[in-house]
Amino acid sequence: MQKAAEKETIKDVEMKLMEMGFAPHRIEGTGRVVIGAVGESKVVFPTGLEVLPGVEKVVPISAPYKLVSREVKEKGSEVTVGDLKIGGTEIAVMAGPCAVESEEQLLTIARHVKAAGAQVLRGGAYKPRSSPYSFQGLELDGLKMLNRAREETGLKIVTEVLNPQEVELVADYSDIIQIGARNMQNFSLLREVGRANKPVLLKRGLAATIEEWLMAAEYILAEDNFQVILCERGIRTFETSTRSTLDISAIPQAKSMTHLPVIADPCHSSGSWRLAAPLSQAAIAAGADGLLIEVHHKPEEALCDGPQSLTPEKFVRLLSSLSPVAEAVGRSVPNNSSLSMTKGL
Ligand code: PEP
Ligand code: MN
Repeated sequence: MQKAAEKETIKDVEMKLMEMGFAPHRIEGTGRVVIGAVGESKVVFPTGLEVLPGVEKVVPISAPYKLVSREVKEKGSEVTVGDLKIGGTEIAVMAGPCAVESEEQLLTIARHVKAAGAQVLRGGAYKPRSSPYSFQGLELDGLKMLNRAREETGLKIVTEVLNPQEVELVADYSDIIQIGARNMQNFSLLREVGRANKPVLLKRGLAATIEEWLMAAEYILAEDNFQVILCERGIRTFETSTRSTLDISAIPQAKSMTHLPVIADPCHSSGSWRLAAPLSQAAIAAGADGLLIEVHHKPEEALCDGPQSLTPEKFVRLLSSLSPVAEAVGRSVPNNSSLSMTKGL
């Protein structure tokens, strides 16, 4: 729309688009409004719209994903979670155990990651395990523990949902809903989180191309939930010495294709705590907007993913190692001035 277009004029164009069989999505950019008009490919391209009052130009988006595309929104989006902005200058740090195991375990780790500077606490209450005989999570009890950890520490909560029937419940207990790698193409789940009024962390599938990942995100935006954060968590390659291969190139590549923020998960990609620091540094250098890191005070006793979990001390060291890299690319890592609180732990 033209910069000077009035609200009423914008509305009229949206109405016209609906009459033509399109679903309009209003995107407020800097100084101007873009209307993303999404329709099935059989709907004819609306050439005549250019004559309507307030319309500046009509641009066909050739990519199979539309609303997530940089073509629709040139400026990077920030996802707001309370007072936290993901996609701004400061790197978002989400940290915590793989799974919620007990209230004591969760609160201990929450206090440590909070003191180190993390803004978001992670922890699965519903776990997507490769084996049906592995620990599957504490479910509702786990969600309640996450709630208590939020109350005590003020940390935001990110936790995974596994099926559409539980989206409402998980949304009630979390600040960010996680869609795991194994569910990246669970389209009914994507549509359901698209209808939830909560930010969504969408992990890249283990064998998904960047385009497939963006189309998965498109399902969520198409339901009018624009609060999506992408997470590169490693893909399957022929390499077996690491759990997966963190696709560093996917970070700048995805960011050139979409306006959505992109974060990285150095733990699930490598499977080893030893690689978490160098991979985090590389991810930030490549433009990542945040990190998702597994932390456990007793990794040797963790019910899942112990070998890739950092102890609180290692997590503190990892965060300090990020500052020079972040600074070099014009970013900052969260303030961990309260480090003294974690000394001697
Ligand atoms: C997780 O974050 O705990 C998890 C299961 O990750 P992914 O879906 O990337 O394997
Ligand atoms: Mn895990």
